[in-house]
Amino acid sequence: MNTIGVLTSGGDAPGMNAAIRAVVRMGRNLGLKVMGIRRGYNGLINGEISEMDRSSVADIIQRGGTILHTARCEEFKTEEGVNKAVNIIKVFGIEGLVVIGGDGSFMGARALCEKGLPSVGVPGTIDNDLAYTDYTIGFDTAINTVLDAINKLRDTSTSHERVSIVEVMGRHCGDLALYAGIAGGGESIIVPEVEFNVDDVCKTILEGKLRGKHHNIIIIAEGVGHANELSSAIKNITGLDTRVTILGHIQRGGSPTAFDRILASRLGARAVELLYDEKGSRVVGVKGNDVIDADINEALKMKKDIDHDLLKLARVLSK
Ligand code: ATP
Repeated sequence: MNTIGVLTSGGDAPGMNAAIRAVVRMGRNLGLKVMGIRRGYNGLINGEISEMDRSSVADIIQRGGTILHTARCEEFKTEEGVNKAVNIIKVFGIEGLVVIGGDGSFMGARALCEKGLPSVGVPGTIDNDLAYTDYTIGFDTAINTVLDAINKLRDTSTSHERVSIVEVMGRHCGDLALYAGIAGGGESIIVPEVEFNVDDVCKTILEGKLRGKHHNIIIIAEGVGHANELSSAIKNITGLDTRVTILGHIQRGGSPTAFDRILASRLGARAVELLYDEKGSRVVGVKGNDVIDADINEALKMKKDIDHDLLKLARVLSK
């Protein structure tokens, strides 16, 4: 293999730049030509491709977002779209591809593998919703962003003795809510994987108040939805003042944490090593402290679940 490509796709995540840097620098180190594809699969269809060298990824390890830009591309979900991309790939002489993104982006990579282009997926998403890896790039930074918001909300929640409901991202996965909730000492953590009951939440609030708590922080994952309805229900049942804060896209930005930079560096480099060894149809990830790789089909089949022990621990510790 002489030439590889790299693209970022789907929702952006802090640490994507660190992963691009690792791909380019490991590629150059192995004597490969590295082509940067802009705007995800759109760029692959439209030929927005140019060569990257060591200096083109200088000074980006600390930056959030992605210098290659990212996009969602409906056309690429069609056979015709994939065929267009395959033609462009041939024009640019790309023999292997690194796709940095979430599960949707991995499905795109799989479609290219089926057309004979060796592709490797690097998990870049703040959602941490991929079952085959312990962590995805961007998740740790997003936890810290949510934590920063929780710390600030705790101040004002305490001053006014209010209930604060914080809605965090994560799509159908409750990991961001769980990890930020446990790190932020949230009183209740509500995730899509586990049924919740408004009365239980109210009981926790009232018991806390009896013990002299002046604040109450409830973390709810966006996949559960209905944060405003929950707020009204709590207000009606407890009579307490409640406020909803929907954190939104600030969770996608910011300078990546050391954890995310190191993870991105390790995973980006491993993806290139796999392509160099002619191994395609793989995804890379981390288990414990080890970098691992897995078959892309097997990885996409795996079902993610919440860490129930951690959720139980959060409940015990917030009492
Ligand atoms: P995030 O988890 O941050 O949302 P993601 O990678 O899961 O990231 P998606 O919007 O699901 O984000 O997918 C990104 C892109 O991957 C899509 O816009 C599309 O171009 C491509 N893609 C998704 N599903 C498929 C599929 N089944 N076949 C081919 N390409 C796909």
